[in-house]
Amino acid sequence: MKKAEEFTGQEQSSMGRVLEEESALKEFGLSDLLPRLQNQGYSAERVARRRRWLEEKTKVSLRHIGDCSFDTEELRGNIENPIGVAQVPMGVAGPVLVHGRHANGLFYVPMATTEGALIRSYERGMVALTRGGGVQTALLEDENQITPTFFFDDVSSALEFSEWAPQHLMQMQAEAARSTQHGKLTSLKCYQVGRQVLVNFGFSTGDAQGMNMIVKAADAVCRWVQANYRISSYLIFSGMCSEKRASGFLMSRGKGKRVTAGALLPHDVLKMYLHATAEQMFRVWQSTVIGHLQAGTIGYNGHYANGLTAIFIATGQDVANVVNAACGVTSFELLPEGLFVSATLPALSVATVGGGTGLPTQREAISMMGCYGSGKVKKLAEIIAAAVLGGEVSMAAAIATREFVAAHEHYGRNRPK
Ligand code: NAP
Repeated sequence: MKKAEEFTGQEQSSMGRVLEEESALKEFGLSDLLPRLQNQGYSAERVARRRRWLEEKTKVSLRHIGDCSFDTEELRGNIENPIGVAQVPMGVAGPVLVHGRHANGLFYVPMATTEGALIRSYERGMVALTRGGGVQTALLEDENQITPTFFFDDVSSALEFSEWAPQHLMQMQAEAARSTQHGKLTSLKCYQVGRQVLVNFGFSTGDAQGMNMIVKAADAVCRWVQANYRISSYLIFSGMCSEKRASGFLMSRGKGKRVTAGALLPHDVLKMYLHATAEQMFRVWQSTVIGHLQAGTIGYNGHYANGLTAIFIATGQDVANVVNAACGVTSFELLPEGLFVSATLPALSVATVGGGTGLPTQREAISMMGCYGSGKVKKLAEIIAAAVLGGEVSMAAAIATREFVAAHEHYGRNRPK
């Protein structure tokens, strides 16, 4: 039998689908399941064995996926069934000058993406903001949320619970504190819907994104409630907290870090670095309100998701949190001296501890901004807000001056050869 790497590209692409074919599905048996029991573990040898098994199954060489430069034992807690690493290209944008309470100075921002033109665009915006005097940033709130649902027999008993729960916040705080050192239950608000009560718990989570931490703490609180109040059942997630969802709740209540970044772009900077006038930029911002209203978008921004995704991948954030983090508002104002621009992100879920931040590649990327470890998450949030603002001004300028398509043609096309 040929070794996996001896198959041609064409053979690989057709044979890689062998398991999808109808005949294969009919024959699907135990031997097609990942050999988990014989092949558990994170050692290089175990990971290679799993990869070889898959190469034989799919007849596809996994050489690049297998090219991992660090000890695969470090993947424990971050992934199951590891077969290697996805080598996502990483670039850098900046420098962006940030004047915040937590971030102060010039920063180079790592961004991992396969979208050509993205980093060039962010870089252009960041340099314009820096030349204009820099970006002021402010961290406005820092509270992650989780909202379990409690179930009652009728509306009156649900109402009684809604009145009882806030009076017992202190006991609940003590219960939450048993399960986490760094997480603190900070607030509680009940939302009654018929005979259900959704209880929104707010937590400070230190430098962690905090979802594992607060789910565990909230579950401990719910168990305490169950033991101390006549409750039939609860569900730990209602969806209301909007983790990995876009929602109006995020705009008003927030999730994680609420952070804002603002800067003045003087006329000469606009002209030199963005090739646009303040009036042209303002017109783009004002006119696109209609498109967003027509679509019913939550928030109003150019493309927060682009920059956030690239930064999240580079720095080991939970990339699915882009769904909530990308809800936010960009604002442009015409001033006699230029254009005042701002980006406000009410639901930025980021961490400098835990999750994927400690993996070797991601740790290097966060360290590039001086943000790895304890006491750094607010700094990271401010840098990200400034970077996102760079992307907003660059995109608006590209649309205003009709350079958008040309820029993508130049940097961002990859037609198959
Ligand atoms: P984690 O990696 O599970 O835990 C990080 C832990 O680090 C904290 O719980 C804390 O322990 C400890 N820690 C040490 N120094 C800290 C500091 N300075 N600040 C804060 N904590 C510190 O991370 P997590 O942030 O709780 O969870 C994030 C992960 O949850 C993400 O990777 C995401 O994919 C995943 N997630 C989970 C759910 C879920 O429902 N479970 C949902 C969405 C996402 P102590 O708690 O003991 O203080």
